[in-house]
Amino acid sequence: MVRGNNKKGVDKRQNTRRKRRNPNRNNPVIKRLEIVLGVLCVVLVAALVWQNYYSAHTYQKGELAQLAQGETQSRLKFMTEKMTEAPAAGAGSGTGTALAEGGSENTGAAEDGTGTSAAAAGTSADSPNETAVAANTTTVVESAESASLKNQLMGVLPGIQKPGSTEGELIAAADRMAAMYDYDAASELLQKSSAYNDSTAMQDAVRSYQATKSTCEPYPIEQITHVFFHTLIKDAKKAFDGDQYEDGYNQYMVTIDEFNSIIQQMYDNGYVLVTLYDMVSAATNAQGEKEFSAGSIMLPQGKKPFVLSQDDVCYYHYMDGDGFASKLVVDENGAIRNEYIEEDGSISVGDYDMVPLIDRFLEEHPDFSYRGAKGYVALTGYDGILGYRTDVSYQTRENLDGYQEIFFQENPNFSEADYEKECAEAKKVAEAMKKDGWIFASHTWGHVGLGENSTTFDQFKADTDKWDERVKPLIGDTDTLIYAFGGDIGGVPDYSGDRFDYLKSKGFDFFCGVDSAEYWVQLRSNYVRQARRNIDGYRMFYNPDMLSDLFDVSKAWDPLRPASVPQI
Ligand SMILES: [Zn+2]
Repeated sequence: MVRGNNKKGVDKRQNTRRKRRNPNRNNPVIKRLEIVLGVLCVVLVAALVWQNYYSAHTYQKGELAQLAQGETQSRLKFMTEKMTEAPAAGAGSGTGTALAEGGSENTGAAEDGTGTSAAAAGTSADSPNETAVAANTTTVVESAESASLKNQLMGVLPGIQKPGSTEGELIAAADRMAAMYDYDAASELLQKSSAYNDSTAMQDAVRSYQATKSTCEPYPIEQITHVFFHTLIKDAKKAFDGDQYEDGYNQYMVTIDEFNSIIQQMYDNGYVLVTLYDMVSAATNAQGEKEFSAGSIMLPQGKKPFVLSQDDVCYYHYMDGDGFASKLVVDENGAIRNEYIEEDGSISVGDYDMVPLIDRFLEEHPDFSYRGAKGYVALTGYDGILGYRTDVSYQTRENLDGYQEIFFQENPNFSEADYEKECAEAKKVAEAMKKDGWIFASHTWGHVGLGENSTTFDQFKADTDKWDERVKPLIGDTDTLIYAFGGDIGGVPDYSGDRFDYLKSKGFDFFCGVDSAEYWVQLRSNYVRQARRNIDGYRMFYNPDMLSDLFDVSKAWDPLRPASVPQI
């Protein structure tokens, strides 16, 4: 049962790989795999038919606007509720340096017109003679209240991690909040300083934030697009080395160079990261149930919100040696990085996948994020999470699949203590990622479609329970389900029925499928659903026009990629 589910759970490309790598070619499970592949083809055709229907029945514009307009759920409020423990004072020395540089951190803010006063403060600090508007760079002006506000935002807004700020530093921190479109939080931070009433620089900054705020307009929630990637290719030569796995990578993945170009282009085109939490307002009714209504995302003209996610961030065994990062880690400064195993077996630590690349990009471009929003990281469980071998099968060595058998052949001494260490490390990384603003989503435990055409109710329930029992203890509660294969529990009509009820009972409120439409949002009082668009080699090669609202494929295309992408 477990084995069957596990086999069914892998991507088509993984199925192919597993079949080829598995030493037991006569294994009956392989035969089942072939049946599964056949079923997948049928599902794909059905999905295409459904997708056409789906696209033709896009959510009516304005329908959402009829719903009650809730006050924007401020990131500050959200983080206050989410963060159960206040970070230790002085944590994150790495970013403190950047903040201490004052004006140089304000590029993003200055670019969108909000950083004038802070930029002035930074400049005057460099030219002590201009005392008229000089910000005080030595005396601590932070009140207990502004310190507490800042602490609540630590880790969410990079650069705001230093207690006991001077005037220049406090303005730089506020500038960063304003660059991330939270003009009221930025103003509040300065107004709560004990020195505010005597500080022309701080008062000017607040005026500047409020002036920019008055130019912002609400963006239609139902028109927000959502894009997703798979794990990024670090070494194109290894991924595209002509072996039997090349086609899958070619179709489903993008390289780091492509990703960097895509993100830079989307930034240049005005895109701003938001989350589903920004898109809705949540209240609790008399029965204690959550009720969702449309949120309000306020952005300056020309800015366009989008949601970002990455699927299968597990660093599956099948990718070993093919030019991908091996895991996510927390470095000595508390930043999220990747490990990469070099040809000679040595380990490099760097930014080799989406999470650290976006973190680095936001350090330079805070205005790419709406109030600290980052993205979703979707996890299955069967090979463990985030590159750690955390599934219970690594402890029991029962119901192993072909790759896991090879893992144990290569690591015969992998012990109970090793297993516990993997789980502890995964928890540590997950905790750091959450504090940093990343949101985890279930991608099902076994990478299974959850619709009736893919799984019986018992299989659906078994997989959902496995996620609950094996992955949730590592990452904490999650309310978001990102369907594997886009395998939704239902079509366009509103959700209802036993599968929906069961997922709700497990705490899921947000559901994301896959669609080619530019945007599709279904907001109901008891759940929120959003379709996602794949950005991968296949889409870039065959439908560059479908991505043209986001970026120019010809500028992003990696010359190290094969000249064409095979049909799926
Ligand atoms: Zn997937």
